[in-house]
Amino acid sequence: MSADCLFCTLYREGEHVNAADGFVAIRDINPQADTHLLVIPERHVETFRDIGGFPPDEARGMLDFVADTARAAGLQDYKVVVNVGAGAGQTVFHLHWHILGGRIRGLA
Ligand code: AMP
Ligand code: ZN
Repeated sequence: MSADCLFCTLYREGEHVNAADGFVAIRDINPQADTHLLVIPERHVETFRDIGGFPPDEARGMLDFVADTARAAGLQDYKVVVNVGAGAGQTVFHLHWHILGGRIRGLA
């Protein structure tokens, strides 16, 4: 956990649209699609480059949670996006997954 990390804070205190052990989903504050959700793991790793920091069960659980969150939001067709590094548009350095459904304006 990182005290000054926005997504560590939102993991603990945010308004969650879905939650499971070790994972939450929130609505993006600046949506780029009709439905734009963010999946945030409790584990703080800065980018997807550090995915090896997740134990295998937890990495699998995170993928299941992404799919479950989309399903629970009523999405069948959607995009899952991870921006890796500032050059790719990452602005929050706590690994997260974008779920974009409906009409998509950005991030794709
Ligand atoms: P990225 O650019 O991939 O790092 O994604 C960060 C996302 O977090 C952006 O889409 C922002 O709109 C979103 N975001 C930033 N602050 C908040 C917040 N307080 N609550 C919800 N989403 C946020
Ligand atoms: Zn964090």
